[in-house]
Amino acid sequence: MAADEHALILDAIAKWAAAEVRPRAMQHDHEDSYPHDLVEQMKELGLFGATIDAEHGGLGLPASVYSGIVEEIARHWMAPTGIFNSHLIAASCLQRTGTEEQKRRWLGRMASGELRGGIALTEPDAGTDLAGIRTHARRDGDEYVVNGGKTWITNSLHGNCLGLLVKTDPDAAPPRAGMSLLFVETRDAAGAPKPGLRIRKLEKLGYRAIDTCELAFEDFRVPAENLIGAEEGRGFYQTVGGLELGRINVAARGSGMARGALDLAVRYAQERKTFGKPIAQHQAIQLKLGEMAARVEAARLLVRSAAAAFDAGERCDMEAGIAKYFASEAAVFCAEEAMRIFGGYSYSKEYDIERYYRDALLMCIGEGTNEMQRIIIARQLIERNPA
Ligand SMILES: Cc1cc2nc3c(=O)[nH]c(=O)nc-3n(C[C@H](O)[C@H](O)[C@H](O)COP(=O)(O)OP(=O)(O)OC[C@H]3O[C@@H](n4cnc5c(N)ncnc54)[C@H](O)[C@@H]3O)c2cc1C
Repeated sequence: MAADEHALILDAIAKWAAAEVRPRAMQHDHEDSYPHDLVEQMKELGLFGATIDAEHGGLGLPASVYSGIVEEIARHWMAPTGIFNSHLIAASCLQRTGTEEQKRRWLGRMASGELRGGIALTEPDAGTDLAGIRTHARRDGDEYVVNGGKTWITNSLHGNCLGLLVKTDPDAAPPRAGMSLLFVETRDAAGAPKPGLRIRKLEKLGYRAIDTCELAFEDFRVPAENLIGAEEGRGFYQTVGGLELGRINVAARGSGMARGALDLAVRYAQERKTFGKPIAQHQAIQLKLGEMAARVEAARLLVRSAAAAFDAGERCDMEAGIAKYFASEAAVFCAEEAMRIFGGYSYSKEYDIERYYRDALLMCIGEGTNEMQRIIIARQLIERNPA
């Protein structure tokens, strides 16, 4: 696909997000109701196959275009970007490490949105420390029998497939050598959870309307042929390898949200008057707007730079980590400064800005907490610059 086609896609998404996403955000967020109509539109736009190879029915977009799409949507409402982000992380694991037969079987259906889902890593006692997971898959003939629990799994109620990280050898040393990734179709033909799986939706502070759930597996059976890559013990590396794209996505969400909060603040500051003039004319407000604008621009450029490194096939864990850290903190900063600019109205559920404030904090947690990002950045710095 040529550069001008990429520009056309970004322009079309920007128009769609302003026309379709923005007007729906407040109601779905308040009601915590799933945006089924937006999902149907996202299928038509090809977003569920955005980064899946054209050979497997996707759009095969580079990270630089994909991150631009995410920014344009998150600028109005961040939550819908989560519907295709963890879905595409699962697809990326399959695309990079699945067998040819597995790619043929699932990637086309994922690209069309017929199969939609995410990636199930986190457990009640293991988030950052992934090697500490306890969900166990025991081989029984031509099936695995899964027992254990996952939590905070996005797209697990309205979706129908998951990349499920399990231990196939709980005694392996190091523990990561005993981890495997299963591709799980979670629902039967009638749409009900398959036997052995219980799903409980979690109530969240922000990122509402999107399903994030707790999952309990009890003697849940998965065909052995669903072991991604057909080899046990590779799950940790298969998963971690997908996180660079995930971090670029979260960075783009942060950058988009920071921009959206700034847009709202600039408009409000010109409408709201105190002491006979728009508050935008007060220097205290201008200092805020200036600082926000600088961080928005820096976040945008960091996302571009990480995406360009990813597209060039360069190692970019440090660049993706820096972009993710900076852009998510920019989102939190801009949302809070915008809240101050909105004064009392920031506290009203009738204004959009309070949603940005609630949603932004998630970006500091997802795809590796910002504490861990800084540790990863420092480790990379040391590795790349030996004394
Ligand atoms: C809305 C939402 C959606 C999510 N969606 C998904 C999903 O789809 N799939 C999925 O698998 N997970 C998902 N998660 C889980 C998310 O990835 C984890 O919450 C995150 O990785 C942090 O893990 P934890 O919550 O267990 O925190 P912990 O790992 O318990 O960390 C607690 C605190 O300790 C800090 N910390 C931990 N270890 C270190 C260390 N070595 N050095 C310094 N500081 C450290 C952390 O930075 C954090 O501040 C989601 C979470 C949320 C809130």
